[in-house]
Amino acid sequence: MKDVMITSGSSIDGYKVVEYIDFVNHSAVFGSNFVQELAANITDSVGGEGNSLSDKLKEATEAAKKDFIGIVKEKGGNAVINMKISYSNLSGSVAAVMFSGTAVKVEKNKGTMKEHVNDIAVSNYFARKIVRPIEVDLHIDNNQTYMSLKLHNYEMAKITAVKVDVEFTDIYGETTFIDNIDYTFNQDINILIETDKIPIDFDFRKVGLQVGAKVFLRKYVKDMRVVEVADQSIDSTLTSEELGIFKKNRGADAVDKYRKTDTYWRCICGAINLPGDTQCSMCNRDEKDMGYTFDYESMLLTMESADSAEEIKDIFMQYIPNIDSGSRVELLEILQSSINMENQRGKGTMKYSLLDKLKRKFELS
Ligand SMILES: [Zn+2]
Repeated sequence: MKDVMITSGSSIDGYKVVEYIDFVNHSAVFGSNFVQELAANITDSVGGEGNSLSDKLKEATEAAKKDFIGIVKEKGGNAVINMKISYSNLSGSVAAVMFSGTAVKVEKNKGTMKEHVNDIAVSNYFARKIVRPIEVDLHIDNNQTYMSLKLHNYEMAKITAVKVDVEFTDIYGETTFIDNIDYTFNQDINILIETDKIPIDFDFRKVGLQVGAKVFLRKYVKDMRVVEVADQSIDSTLTSEELGIFKKNRGADAVDKYRKTDTYWRCICGAINLPGDTQCSMCNRDEKDMGYTFDYESMLLTMESADSAEEIKDIFMQYIPNIDSGSRVELLEILQSSINMENQRGKGTMKYSLLDKLKRKFELS
């Protein structure tokens, strides 16, 4: 492995974390010329010119990323997990981009790739600081089905056994229930726990039809003590397809969209936090990183009455001051590419695919 692998999630497919090195944080400040130009160019940033805002922002971001990777390498890391990138508000005379993440050392998993058949995101969860099943993997070997689990260890405790029931849902909406599955393991304390594969009583020909899974954690062994889990689990409101995208964007333990009321805010990990809490009590994510805090739903609703990608962009421009500065360029690029397509294919032809893209962007990232 030559370079440093980076993910916003807490694991990298095909690799396992063998050492947690350090939390790394790197900011780069852009000078006043850059910021003035940025403000002046915000509306034509997606034009084709070589010196467009988009290019400059990308350039500055790439340079800062390079430095960040340099620090990770210096510390002995070959990968970064839970990577975040944020831009400061574009006010005053300076702006900054910040990279942060956990530098880790990873190793390639041996001999597991070929038999991997169906990895399913777990769609229910317990909103408490306990070990959490996040993925069920079904494997086929010699006409026999095997099942393994990935679990998220919020407590960073020594977990040595779990007992679970699993409910699979197939593409027809039919369910299969498998109960009393025991996994035991002996591994170092790690945020991600991967179990062995064990044979289960499940028709191997139906493995590929499974699209959803709920895992009911019954008991687990922590520091040689048995912990009973008697409460009911909570279901994610996302479909299994949406959940897969959401986890990819926001981390393997993410289960549902951020929600804020007068009395609490719900983190994307599902934990309920008090209005004054700036960090989630379960996963330590910052509330300010939860996603879009402005009313994007009414923006999307207004967009539905537009007739073309061009009109959708006009509506977007009215909302742009409220949109996180780090996302503007990417969103403008999505809009512009649809406008370009409509110039070739005809007005209105890209409307629905564009709305769909924007919806995904706002709701699942
Ligand atoms: Zn959380």
